[in-house]
Amino acid sequence: MNAVASLGERQRLALQRPDLLREQGFVGGAWVGGATAFDVTNPATGDVLARPARLGRTEAETAVAAAAAALPAWSARPAKARADILKAWHRLILQHAEDLARLMTAEQGKPLAEARGEVAYAAAFLEWFAEEARRVYGVTIPGHMADKRIVVTHEAVGVVGAITPWNFPAAMITRKVGPALAVGCTVVLKPSELTPLSALALAVLAEEAGLPEGVLNIVMGDAPEIGDVLTTDPRVRKFTFTGSTPVGKMLAARCAGTVKRVSLELGGNAPFLVFDDADLDKAVAGAMASKFRNTGQTCVCANRFYVQAGVYDAFAARLAEAAAALNVGDGLSGPTEQGPLIDERAREKVSTHVADALGGGARVLTGGAAMDGPGAFFEPTVLADVGPGALLCREETFGPVAGLVRFETEAEAIALANDTSAGLAAYVFTRDNARVWRVGGALQYGMVGINTGLISTEVAPFGGVKESGLGREGSLYGVRDYVDTKTLCLEVEPE
Ligand code: NAP
Repeated sequence: MNAVASLGERQRLALQRPDLLREQGFVGGAWVGGATAFDVTNPATGDVLARPARLGRTEAETAVAAAAAALPAWSARPAKARADILKAWHRLILQHAEDLARLMTAEQGKPLAEARGEVAYAAAFLEWFAEEARRVYGVTIPGHMADKRIVVTHEAVGVVGAITPWNFPAAMITRKVGPALAVGCTVVLKPSELTPLSALALAVLAEEAGLPEGVLNIVMGDAPEIGDVLTTDPRVRKFTFTGSTPVGKMLAARCAGTVKRVSLELGGNAPFLVFDDADLDKAVAGAMASKFRNTGQTCVCANRFYVQAGVYDAFAARLAEAAAALNVGDGLSGPTEQGPLIDERAREKVSTHVADALGGGARVLTGGAAMDGPGAFFEPTVLADVGPGALLCREETFGPVAGLVRFETEAEAIALANDTSAGLAAYVFTRDNARVWRVGGALQYGMVGINTGLISTEVAPFGGVKESGLGREGSLYGVRDYVDTKTLCLEVEPE
């Protein structure tokens, strides 16, 4: 493992468009400041990157009013007219992809190659939904009486309140804003205070693409105040949240007062199953992609590895070798393949999970410790002989730690995998086709990767079952959460 040296801060950003770095919120088509500000730091260096305005209840209420005012005209536009603007926004994002990626790496810590990938992924949602929303077809239903005709249409749900996390600072936004705007909704978005710069840069480009004022509003700062407005204001008809399960549950409960439509993309606890008949090259590559991408900070990250006894030792040795070879460091420099954790609190959680596993008899195959330096770095870690009751298996670790548990039978693996309140993503590696269908069907998860560790794409539905959430993002299903279904029942007078 090589530590890559940090070089210093803002000069390395080297933005071709320095005006993409904004410190004001975006409300009703205007850039608004606040009385106070907060620090956005680079998690790799601890340096302050920007001091955005700390906005709160007043700005959130103004933003909701702007979104409500913009709604009638925006929703009345033909779908193609809205799609043209979203496509222009998509093109601008790709045109400025390098700047957006550099900003993202600086505020979030992921390696530049991953940030470039996320920018492309984020843009893809705009293109997809620009196309998809032109085909929000209704149906006609044979009437229940001779003189009745029934027509079903789908209409924009209205003003959308959205709250997004820090781990995917751009894609979690476009996955919500894309379908919302495409079908005619308007949006008030609160990005995480840890990563607001990507959101604000996206808003700069949305404005340039021709998005009318008030259609998209960005308010960052006091999360409880902004969250309170977005979950209780009766003008907000839909609330969509991506983040941790406890915060999602709390905010969803608040939405009950005004019976909002609610979508939740919450935490996962993904099992990664390797059977004796698996292709081990694929299994190790899948494990590396699923576990160590974004320093283990994705909601679909493999969190628990269940490996059948016949391949356990071989898989463990090869995974440890691959993890030990990762270059860890500042995402903006050199050959970095794993960046820092988002902050010290995140690193403490990872350390606690590792200590708990070791206390229960686990063995370190590689890594296992926090790394020196200003950022919250943690060694890529593989632990063998983890007990199924370890914290690593019961909670989302959100860090670069693969804990391996040995199993004997398929039934045992399925039972272990399903023994959780989460149900977002699961992974299965086997060359037995019958097993693919049996295990794929038995896993209680919204998404199952079979012989692959990468499952996210704008064309497939993304979302969880059980306490991992409600609704689906991306794909044709991603539109449904932003439209209300209306029945028109017509009486036809006889001649
Ligand atoms: P988090 O702490 O729940 O924060 C998510 C968002 O909620 C942030 O914008 C945060 O704002 C805001 N927030 C926190 N407390 C709030 C409150 N009292 N009122 C209103 N808003 C509040 O989650 P996180 O640590 O950022 O994100 C990681 C979690 O997200 C993990 O559990 C991960 O699995 C999950 N996730 C799920 C998916 C999915 O699609 N299922 C995708 C990505 C991530 P501030 O940051 O400004 O405080």
